[in-house]
Amino acid sequence: MFETTIAGSLPKPAWLAEPDRLWAPWRLQGQDLIDGKRDATLLAIKIQEDAGIDIVGDGEQARQHFVHGFLENIEGIDFAHKVEMGIRDNRYKAMVPTVTGPLKLKGRVHAMEAQAARAHTRRKLKFTLPGPMTISDTIADRFYGDQVKMAFAFADLLNQEARALERDGVDVIQFDEPAFNVFTTQVADWGIKALEQAAAGLNCKTAVHICYGYGIKANTDWKETLGGEWRQYETIFPAIAKSRIQQVSVECRNSKVPLDLLALLKGKDILVGVIDVASDIVETPEDVVATIEAAMKFVPKEKILACTNCGMAPMHRDIAAAKLNALGAGAVLARKRLG
Ligand code: ZN
Repeated sequence: MFETTIAGSLPKPAWLAEPDRLWAPWRLQGQDLIDGKRDATLLAIKIQEDAGIDIVGDGEQARQHFVHGFLENIEGIDFAHKVEMGIRDNRYKAMVPTVTGPLKLKGRVHAMEAQAARAHTRRKLKFTLPGPMTISDTIADRFYGDQVKMAFAFADLLNQEARALERDGVDVIQFDEPAFNVFTTQVADWGIKALEQAAAGLNCKTAVHICYGYGIKANTDWKETLGGEWRQYETIFPAIAKSRIQQVSVECRNSKVPLDLLALLKGKDILVGVIDVASDIVETPEDVVATIEAAMKFVPKEKILACTNCGMAPMHRDIAAAKLNALGAGAVLARKRLG
């Protein structure tokens, strides 16, 4: 009960990439970079195991960003000429690559880090991929001329990689769809269908992560505009509840999401965000128990997993490690008190 896991990314070691920032430039090149990514992946696994995390991940150590990491091995994308684009409904600007032709995988995308992680942990292994809607909101298009059509093209490629990850021995495949919280009405129209296409035929557990973003200024400023209650989940949860996706990872700790909305996800495993990634204040195990207890009013306890609100990529490394320890210790305490 109350198994622990993380949303996805962890900070990278300073010898691999510039610390404390998103889209951090690599500090190694060529074979050194490949070796460094693998070493950092093993380190990420070890840090999670020591913190008592039950379902561990690669910490996204081998990708510069959770979306663009997947795009790097796809034919039909021009990475050489990035363009500035407003993403998440113009919440912030990012330099993004452009789709210039039919999309096709050049080969495996995440084989190295998935296989390295699998070889070095006996715990359950989770692997994250960006969701099709979020990808289509983080790339410019000069070929498809239709966002939905492009998103479904990405869904097919995601499915190809997801099936290969399953063959690598991954136990949970999670699709990250922060765009679901922005384009809420399009989720039921096509977002869920694209997500299900990405997850088609998988026998391992499937999850979707929907958050209010990394703890960067553009996101914390946006949250200020959302009012006293964040009700985005209310629009999208009914459609997710009807989908074949089994687990839903949501932001709870220090958020203004009314937790009664979790009742809309009847039957799903809920990855309750008990660790705030937008604050450097480290939670106590008691804080973790309190968030789990609050979620238990609306979710049966056997359906609750304890997780981080979002990825930790831009955080200080020592703070992220302390937060992981709080997550592990908090779940132990919760099992004792509430289990
Ligand atoms: Zn997130």
